[in-house]
Amino acid sequence: MAATQFLAGGTTILDLMKLDVMQPQRLVDVNRIDADVGRIERPADIFYLGAFATMAAVADHPDVRRDYPVVVQALDLAASAQIRNMATLGGNVLQRTRCNYFRDHCCAAYPGDFAQALVALDAAVEITGSRGPRVMPFEQLHRMPGDTPHIETVLKPGELIIGFRLPVGLWTRRSLYLKIRDRQSYEFALASAAVVLDLVGDTVNEARIALGGVATKPWRAREAEATLKGRAIDEATAERAAGAAFAGAQTRGDNAYKVELGKRTLVRALLQASQLSV
Ligand code: FAD
Repeated sequence: MAATQFLAGGTTILDLMKLDVMQPQRLVDVNRIDADVGRIERPADIFYLGAFATMAAVADHPDVRRDYPVVVQALDLAASAQIRNMATLGGNVLQRTRCNYFRDHCCAAYPGDFAQALVALDAAVEITGSRGPRVMPFEQLHRMPGDTPHIETVLKPGELIIGFRLPVGLWTRRSLYLKIRDRQSYEFALASAAVVLDLVGDTVNEARIALGGVATKPWRAREAEATLKGRAIDEATAERAAGAAFAGAQTRGDNAYKVELGKRTLVRALLQASQLSV
């Protein structure tokens, strides 16, 4: 585990330290490094979300509310209002499971919501570190457990997430985040689906799908996307897509129910998203 951890909103890291799950040697408060890192703006052909913007500030931003429903819903359905006022986007995507086995028990599902919205939008992440800045597809930030389940992302020690670049286009308005959880007040997802649809008439030009609560990282469902291309979305095509999304799913006893739950979540999300007007 990294000897140094950053303190952004502190809502995850302080929790994990209290639980004695993480005991970093150094905690570096990064809140005041530069006021610019909390900005929310549209510089040119991208929409930019600074990594230190709070979840609440982003979810309340009028341009985000108009153009990125999937982002607003993923943020609004995460945690409590009090936490959203403190928690930052950067800290949110890097939150870790609260499971006491931590990721040594490597089938713990990735707990966050906002990351699925970023994956479904094909967003990019800006990172900086001692070797300078770099930008990469957000989808590549989290890694599979493999033989090193304690290493959850491709960030190098000391690297900071600076911001997120969202694509711009009317099609981002036909997007949504559907989250299924045990109770309607704050709770992590049992299953979730982020869906972004680019339609020409009723026909799918491009569908982007990310699943939450069912995999160790935010899960891009490319097989499902491929089944939808060139077709209209109805019950049958949505069910076929959901089948493709979970065709390779591996369950372990108690979580077998997640396959059916995940499929139904995706079918509902696709049908609802296809009805949205832009
Ligand atoms: P911090 O706690 O400050 O940091 C978290 C981690 O990220 C640390 O390891 C830190 O080193 C690292 N870090 C922070 N910022 C950066 C950066 N810019 N670059 C590199 N590393 C960084 N989240 C959901 O998505 N859905 C939920 O349903 C949900 N429910 C919750 C319920 C409760 C009761 C609580 C306490 C939390 C819940 N959360 C949920 C998690 C919450 O959203 C996160 O705690 C929060 O987003 C973390 O943000 P933070 O700024 O407080 O991060």
